[in-house]
Amino acid sequence: MKIPFNKPYLSGRETEYIEQAVRSGKISGNGVFTQKCHEFFEGKYGFKKCLLTHSGTAALEMAAILLDIQPGDEVIVPSYTFVSTANAFVLRGAKIVFADSRTDHPGMDEDRIEELITPKTKAIVPVHYAGVACDMDKIMDIAARYSLFVVEDAAQAIDSFYTGTDGLASPLGGIGHLAAFSFHETKNVISGEGGMLVVNDDRFLKRAEIIWEKGTDRAAFFRGEVDKYGWVDVGSSFLPSEIIAAFLWAQLENLSAIQAKRKEIWHSYRQRLMSLAEQATVQLPFVPAYASNNYHLFYLVCKSLEQRTKLINELKGKNILAVFHYLSLHKSPYYHNRHDGRELPESDRYADCLVRLPFYFELPEKAIQLICRVVAGVTNGD
Ligand SMILES: *Cc1c(COP(=O)(O)O)cnc(C)c1O
Repeated sequence: MKIPFNKPYLSGRETEYIEQAVRSGKISGNGVFTQKCHEFFEGKYGFKKCLLTHSGTAALEMAAILLDIQPGDEVIVPSYTFVSTANAFVLRGAKIVFADSRTDHPGMDEDRIEELITPKTKAIVPVHYAGVACDMDKIMDIAARYSLFVVEDAAQAIDSFYTGTDGLASPLGGIGHLAAFSFHETKNVISGEGGMLVVNDDRFLKRAEIIWEKGTDRAAFFRGEVDKYGWVDVGSSFLPSEIIAAFLWAQLENLSAIQAKRKEIWHSYRQRLMSLAEQATVQLPFVPAYASNNYHLFYLVCKSLEQRTKLINELKGKNILAVFHYLSLHKSPYYHNRHDGRELPESDRYADCLVRLPFYFELPEKAIQLICRVVAGVTNGD
């Protein structure tokens, strides 16, 4: 048996909807399927305004334009994240101030954000790693006190929630001023490449749509709100074609089935590996009481780089592909000379020790059994 790390999920209706889009004669962006997807998210999660994009990266870039990030502005971003979280702001000339991760979770350490703020700070970009919420009450409170914007990198966080001190569960992506989701084929819900910007702050509603449509007011024109459209602001082409939106719609229709299956897989892993965590040979995923789990991934944090290398190799020997995740961005070839020199030991620890186990809709229970036996065999001896 060969077990890949990821296998894209298909609901079975993707090509049917794509064919519908093609036959309708409207395959450029912002058509019927795009609007269905927008309405799905706005209706189910109460997001104020959703705009599909061609990637999560593009949604983050839109956020940086909307915030009017200027050269010299500082943006606080975790070091342990995907490159796009930082790159979107670097493209506008921002200086990235990297935050370290928590000890119990790869997400940014909320208690150490405030010390990174200077008069130049413009925004905080929390990443909900593995779809598990950052402590958003703390982050939104800091942002309010220093008049900063919050852009949630919710790329991994579809259908996940944060319960604040008010006791109410808020969907991730609906808390910050802006948020970015991804539908890359490695995420829970996919369209190959794809993403979505969420606008929660009224101040950005109108401009978001203009930036999305190349800096024109074409979207308002199509709604009949203006009698001609023209170039009114900066922007780019951020909207995906209807072919992509049709694919995504076929997935969204099946969201609850996708999530139910992923929940099963996640708990099967956790149950089988719990004893290892009790013996403290590895660290299992931690989900704080205020966070829900959307079962985006199952990871282990090994005791050392050596232990992780041994585990990955041992799994590979059995045709099982387990992979590590991010390298600390503050040490990356592109940014290390620009970084201010602070050590970020937790980020480095996750970079060295975290491993992601195979996780996809069709992953059979027998495969999970086998994977967990290998993991136990490698880590038990240490
Ligand atoms: C996947 C991901 C992105 C980028 O999304 P794309 O759709 O691949 O551009 C950004 N940030 C995080 C945390 C991600 O996991």
